[in-house]
Amino acid sequence: MAHGAGGHMMQQLVKDYILKYLGGSGVEVPLEALDDSAVIDDIVLKSDCHTVKPLFFPGGDIGRLAIAGTVNDIAVMGAEPRALTSGFVIEEGFPLTDFEKIVRSMGDTCREAGVYVITGDTKVVEKGALDKFVVNTSGIGRRMEALERNIAEVKKHRSFDARWLLDSNLRAGDKIIVSGTMGDHGIALLSFREGYDFDSAILSDVTPLNKLIMELLYVGGVVSMKDPTRGGLANTLNEWSEKSHVGIMVEEDRIPIREGVRAACEMLGIEALEIGNEGKVVVGVVAQKALDVLAALRKTEQGRDAEIIGEVTDAFTSVVMETSVGGKRILPPPVGDPIPRIC
Ligand code: MG
Repeated sequence: MAHGAGGHMMQQLVKDYILKYLGGSGVEVPLEALDDSAVIDDIVLKSDCHTVKPLFFPGGDIGRLAIAGTVNDIAVMGAEPRALTSGFVIEEGFPLTDFEKIVRSMGDTCREAGVYVITGDTKVVEKGALDKFVVNTSGIGRRMEALERNIAEVKKHRSFDARWLLDSNLRAGDKIIVSGTMGDHGIALLSFREGYDFDSAILSDVTPLNKLIMELLYVGGVVSMKDPTRGGLANTLNEWSEKSHVGIMVEEDRIPIREGVRAACEMLGIEALEIGNEGKVVVGVVAQKALDVLAALRKTEQGRDAEIIGEVTDAFTSVVMETSVGGKRILPPPVGDPIPRIC
C-alpha cells in the first residue's frame, strides 16, 4: 500500500519501474519532471486514477474528487483546464443508484469548474475482481492570458525563464503561501471510514480550484503552485526543495490546521502535514507580491484561511520548520501516506 501512497516509496516505484521504460519523450514538460501535469505543444495533459474508499464520504464523493483532482493538477501549472475524459471500471453487482449518484456528482462538479467530460469508456468486471468502482479522469488544458500576465509580473521583480509554474521555479527570497487549512480531506475520510467519533465532524475540502487560481494569476507574481494531495504539505515542500535545489523554511504556528484535525492527529499519532488535501493550493510567489496574493486569496470562500507560511532560502537545501516552541527541525518527505486510499 505504501507504494501507492505518494511518498518516498511511490517515488521509488515510479523511478525504478515506470520512468525506466516510459520516460525520455523529450516534450516540454516530460513524464520524468514528475510535475502536476505534462506539457506538449502548449497543451497541458494529466491523468488520475481514483480509488477512494469509501466512495461517499463527508464533504464529497469519488465523482467530485475525480473531476476536482484533474482540474486542479492542470490549473496549478498555470493553465486553463479545457476538457476531461472519464474511464469507469465497475464491479459486477454495483448498484445503479450509486453509479448514478457518482456520475451526477461529476456533472455538478464539472459545471462548477466550467470544464466538461467530452469522452470516456465504461467497463464491468466480475464480482470480486475489483473493490466496487474505480474511475480514471484525464484532462487537457491550454495556455491563457492570465499566465502571460502573471509571468510578466514575476519578471518585474526577478529573473524567470520558465514558461509554466513548475516545481523547479523557486528561488531564494520567494514566499510560500497555503490557501487554507491542512489535513481536512484525509482526516474526514479516516474518521468516517474507521468510525472514530471526534467532537466536531470534519468535512473533506474537495473542490475545483481553477477559478481561484486564475484570479491569483491576474494578481501576478506566482512562480510555482501545487495541490498538496497525497503526502500533504510535507511532500509538496520537499518536492519543491528537491527540484528547485533550494531550502524552504516554514513556521509551524503559521500553518492553518483546524482544531478538530489537530486533535485527531494527536490522538492517532499522525503528522497533519503529511495528510492529503483535495481543495487546497500551495503557492510560491515573489516576495514583492506575497501580500497581494494573500489578500486576493482571503477575499474568496476557498481561500479565507490563507496564510504566508514561510520562504525560500539558499542557506540550506532541505525543508526546515520553526516549531511552536522556538526550535527548528527538518520536515522530511513522508515515507508513505499515513492514511491509504483517500483519493
Ligand atoms: Mg498535483
